[in-house]
Amino acid sequence: MTDAPLKLFNSLTRSLEVFEPVHAGEARVYTCGPTVYNYPHIGNMRAYVFADVLGRTLSWKGLKLTHVINITDVGHLTDDADAGEDKMEKMAAERAQSIWDIAEHYKQAYWADVKALNIRQPAQWTVATDYVPQMITFAKGIADKHCYELESGLYFDVSTVADYGRLARANTEEGEGRIEAVEGKRNAADFAIWRKTPAGETRQMEWDSPWGKGAPGWHLECSVMSGEVLGFPFDIHTGGIDHREIHHPNEIAQNQAHCCTNGLDDPRNSGAKIWMHNNFLVERSGKMSKSSGEFLRLQLLIDKGYHPLAYRLMCLQAHYRSELEFSWEGLQAALTRLKRMVMAVESSARTLQQISVDEMQLLGREELFERLEDRTRQCLERFEAAISDDLNTAEALVAFEAAIGIKGAAFVDTIVASAILMDSVLGLNLLSLTRADLRIRPKSATITEDEIEAALARRKGARAAKDFAASDAIRDELTAQGVEVMDGDPLGWEWKLG
Ligand code: AMP
Ligand code: ZN
Repeated sequence: MTDAPLKLFNSLTRSLEVFEPVHAGEARVYTCGPTVYNYPHIGNMRAYVFADVLGRTLSWKGLKLTHVINITDVGHLTDDADAGEDKMEKMAAERAQSIWDIAEHYKQAYWADVKALNIRQPAQWTVATDYVPQMITFAKGIADKHCYELESGLYFDVSTVADYGRLARANTEEGEGRIEAVEGKRNAADFAIWRKTPAGETRQMEWDSPWGKGAPGWHLECSVMSGEVLGFPFDIHTGGIDHREIHHPNEIAQNQAHCCTNGLDDPRNSGAKIWMHNNFLVERSGKMSKSSGEFLRLQLLIDKGYHPLAYRLMCLQAHYRSELEFSWEGLQAALTRLKRMVMAVESSARTLQQISVDEMQLLGREELFERLEDRTRQCLERFEAAISDDLNTAEALVAFEAAIGIKGAAFVDTIVASAILMDSVLGLNLLSLTRADLRIRPKSATITEDEIEAALARRKGARAAKDFAASDAIRDELTAQGVEVMDGDPLGWEWKLG
């Protein structure tokens, strides 16, 4: 099998580029992580599913992946520019809790979602407050040439670097509309890299610096953590499409100031060779905005009875650069599709003879390839071409389904081998999920699965004895408890709740 070259869309050049690693055989990736002032919504989690698929694809290509995701626990304002309050401080004040406790709680909640969505652990989670001394050193290094002080903090002068705003296709003059004015700024797009604590106030999180007590700016944090752990230039920087407008142009400006002030015709001067952005998950009634109060969390999907990997599949069905609309019907359709995949893999795995699925999962990529025969090999080639084409997961899923849909007992080994290979990129846990795991099971239901199974067994007995009155009565009892009995369901789902 020949590996297709991996092409990725670079937001900086707005074009598809063949991935050429900065360090031979390696891929170093930085993903802007969550600000842990609240639960993530499922839109936020789309950003990490995307970054996970990218990381898995780089591993699939045989590259040694170093992936870093940060946790922002200080410095992110309620407005991406320099207006508003620190999100963490605002929540801590509302809850009358310490910022540290808030950060810990929401970091754990985010990690629970990461796990539920089968997002692989990155090599490192960098927590912003662990890097403040390095942030001060970085800021000191660029302050003389690129910054100026105002009463409220140390500001970055965006006119001191070439091509400011290229990523957003904006420039310093266009800053007014998108960025709140601060008295004394030289350019509208200038931004704070250190925010001083106002005289007479004490913040829960503040550090001494050459510019007085205060806290780092959010953009500074990502420049420092990415450069510290991965070294400039690294390969790929990811984030949601909103970061293309302000956060990432500002990171780039700082990286240029830190490394060299040369322009961005050579993307490496931006600090990363490739900048990638996932598009948004949207929802018609605005449930994707945390400021709207009630918003869509992964836990809500789980509470309604949906397996979280159905949401992962929903994300994979769309290209990461396309907007994706969330709907419950869409989630239901993804769940049904996932169930069909699981059933196909399960039925092949059940008929494996010489080797178990567990043993097969221990085989290396080459050994798995050897087990493929022509038809699965062709599917794998389609799959490889799809993911190599800027992570076209929608096409990759079709190739996957073609492979697991091949009929004939002689091909069982080959089907399981191809499923293991492809799922290493898709991350849908297709070898360990069972049909029963995917059953809709709302949290609010009081009847247990064992009770349902026992009632269904009694009903089967009644039907066998042609006692249809008893069989109907059992069915009615189940219906009264919210259980829908699904006789003859083509997916073999005998019942569902809710
Ligand atoms: P935040 O915690 O607000 O910094 O956001 C975490 C990540 O989610 C960032 O990469 C955002 O760009 C991304 N993001 C925010 N809203 C959405 C959305 N509706 N759909 C997809 N990604 C999003
Ligand atoms: Zn960031």
